[in-house]
Amino acid sequence: MHLAKRIISVAPSATLAVSNLAKQMKAKGEDVIDLSIGQPDFTTPAFIADAAKAAINSGAASFYTAATGIPALKAAIAGHVERQTGVHYTTKQIAVTTGAKLALYGLFQVLLDPGEEVLIPLPGWVSYVEQVRLAGGVPRPVPSHAHFKVTVDDLEAQRTAKTRALVINSPANPTGTIYTKQELTLIGNWALQHDILVVADDIYRDLLFNGAAYTSMIEIDPEITKNTVLISGVSKSYAMTGWRIGFAAGPEKLISAMATLLGHATGNPTTAAQYAAIAAFDSDGRSVEQMRLAFEDRLNTLYPLVTKVPGFDLPDKPQGAFYLFPNVKRAAQLTNYNSVDDFVSALLAETGVAIVPGRAFGMPDHARLSYATAKPDLIEAVARINAFVGAN
Ligand code: PMP
Ligand code: GLU
Repeated sequence: MHLAKRIISVAPSATLAVSNLAKQMKAKGEDVIDLSIGQPDFTTPAFIADAAKAAINSGAASFYTAATGIPALKAAIAGHVERQTGVHYTTKQIAVTTGAKLALYGLFQVLLDPGEEVLIPLPGWVSYVEQVRLAGGVPRPVPSHAHFKVTVDDLEAQRTAKTRALVINSPANPTGTIYTKQELTLIGNWALQHDILVVADDIYRDLLFNGAAYTSMIEIDPEITKNTVLISGVSKSYAMTGWRIGFAAGPEKLISAMATLLGHATGNPTTAAQYAAIAAFDSDGRSVEQMRLAFEDRLNTLYPLVTKVPGFDLPDKPQGAFYLFPNVKRAAQLTNYNSVDDFVSALLAETGVAIVPGRAFGMPDHARLSYATAKPDLIEAVARINAFVGAN
């Protein structure tokens, strides 16, 4: 069977691969604790699900909508973003998509000509690199130094005449790192100066812990806002990963190009899910806060335990999202594995604890643990990891 070069060169999503493997093991009755995939273990709040049920019952959910979503949802998104950041987007500046994943995918499709480059700070979420490749672009990884963050100097070292965009994901997957306002100001001005579009992936912005301060790239300066596309969605904040609603907000020209693309690609995001998302974005945030508190408690429980595991190194406590990204190279050595990849595979096979190898995020000596899982399971997972690495 002939396959296009476009897809042959692309690696499957490692987060989905590990989580599928964990699911298969569970289905066979194995005792698996899945810390691989980044998805809240909570179910969607009832008032959100009820809004979808009402749209189904009334018949409204039976029909196609505009390719970029129903106006009421765009208005709800605009209202929500404005309340959080003070930045106003018109409905023409917003495209609702089938998950934030498709917002990013579509953005790279309409932005990049063959060979054009996107700066992707490492470590970074697994799909950025492959989505850029799928758009015919060239991902330019930017290694981070201190605290998993990149500076203007790091970015400048990778800039070429073909650089079109830069991804900033704060709080970050897989590290939970947050960029400060000052760091974003420097990066945002640098991008502006070089006409490099900033892709601000703020999908974890509601999950901030232990009083961490947060500023979005879009709220620093109106000129930087105009040079930025905001990407976000309902998956993480509202426990709605399965509903597949995300959005892009930014320059009208880009959003209108995305509308053309989406019109041919998806038609529209599932209508019932759009009605659910209206309820989410219009809500008072109490359910978000309840879940945030649970994640914070898990972080505060898990972080000290994980840093005590022999060979697990993680000097900075994460400030957001729901991941830990320790360096586990010493643990692999202690257990006589040649690589962290082998260590992670053996950990799953022998203890049933599923984590994701750091290679997928561009840092092969690390591994990612998601703590979007019940606390007793997190504690049990660390006990198994400790036993595996031979701790007393
Ligand atoms: N950005 C980041 C950084 C992510 O971790 C994810 C994974 N959920 C997404 C975007 C896409 O999220 P979704 O498609 O579920 O909205
Ligand atoms: N973004 C989540 C993760 O990193 C969900 C899986 C995915 O889309 O990669 O685990």
